[in-house]
Amino acid sequence: MPYIAMARKWRPHSFSEMVGQEHIAQTLKNAITTGNIHHAFLFSGTRGVGKTTSARILAAMLNCTAASEQRPCGQCESCKAITAGLSMDVMEIDAASNNGVDDMREVLEGTQYPPMNSKYRVLIIDEVHALSKQAWYSMLKTLEEPPSYLVFIFATTDPNKIPATILSRVLCFDFKRLSSLQISKRLAFICEQEGIKVAPEALSIISEKADGSMRDALTIFDEVFAYSGSSITAESAQKALGIPPDALYVELIKAFEAHDAKGSFAVLEKATFAGAEIQVFLDGFIRFLRNFLYARLGISAEQLEISQESLDNLKKLAPELDQGDILRISKMIMELSEKCSAKHGLNPRLIAEAEFSKIAWLDRVVNINEALKNISNISNVPLNKENQKKIGSFAGTSSGIGTASTSSSSTRLNI
Ligand SMILES: [Zn+2]
Repeated sequence: MPYIAMARKWRPHSFSEMVGQEHIAQTLKNAITTGNIHHAFLFSGTRGVGKTTSARILAAMLNCTAASEQRPCGQCESCKAITAGLSMDVMEIDAASNNGVDDMREVLEGTQYPPMNSKYRVLIIDEVHALSKQAWYSMLKTLEEPPSYLVFIFATTDPNKIPATILSRVLCFDFKRLSSLQISKRLAFICEQEGIKVAPEALSIISEKADGSMRDALTIFDEVFAYSGSSITAESAQKALGIPPDALYVELIKAFEAHDAKGSFAVLEKATFAGAEIQVFLDGFIRFLRNFLYARLGISAEQLEISQESLDNLKKLAPELDQGDILRISKMIMELSEKCSAKHGLNPRLIAEAEFSKIAWLDRVVNINEALKNISNISNVPLNKENQKKIGSFAGTSSGIGTASTSSSSTRLNI
């Protein structure tokens, strides 16, 4: 049997299958149940979050002769025609390639007549922000006085480019980016249905890389599945996507803990030798540091989508570093990642090495409460000559690791 891309196979066919857009699904369902249908909708949001899919579901629901509250029946003439892309009453156009005034006039001409076989004539215009100003104005009159059977559904990733006169005539829906957890849950469900064995860490890696887009997540999943087969582990997902294994990140954080700049360069060398792009390596490290910090804060393995064993290992990792240190390192790596992605012609590896040296030579953060307690303990001791000497040396600035230097305490407050 030929392999069908997951994004196609698992495209939602009902509002109840829409992940992360429950607020929109509920409003649209209510509109259909009450028959209170607005004549123009605008679906905006980042790519791959379900705008076009929702437009198709809405179009099918409007014309289905046997729709339930949740979904079109999929069996009636209208549903069959829409699924086959043969419906005369539901038209879908891509404004990115049909953005001129003539294109729009032609489309609008077809809307002058009532639907042939259905209740509504639905016009779905994707990437609608790409329409020219003239194309919008040619549509304005129809939008102001639409025939009762006509419904516009516009989809866009850039609502700011849509003229205000149009925005005031459409019902706007803002589609949310999906959280990693929402994507992981959906992928886990699909894997279960498909009989694919998958490690939670692998799902977490895929959903992080998808960056809020369900469609991207499914495309990435296809890539991982093609490499791993029906048993997907964290390692196979990392290999398929060119993401360095966590073992390298463990090595890197230990090098930072030991003030070992040379050791941190060696990790970078290994990652580069294995073919990882610096940017991908750093993004993976940011994810690792986030899990490292969360593990310290007592977040559960389930919430982090990692195994209990990985969580226990993270908790024991680099005990010399405290939460403040991890935060500072995360911040510096995020800035470094930004610097490496900026196109200023500098070699990203050299920038990374310079920043790694800085991190390796950082003073440790000192818990300011501990430091204050120490000071108050000392101030309670009666002053004899010996104690005076001790206080003098404590108050003097020192740059050693773990010392209560004023500079490191103030750095903590700045985080
Ligand atoms: Zn139907």
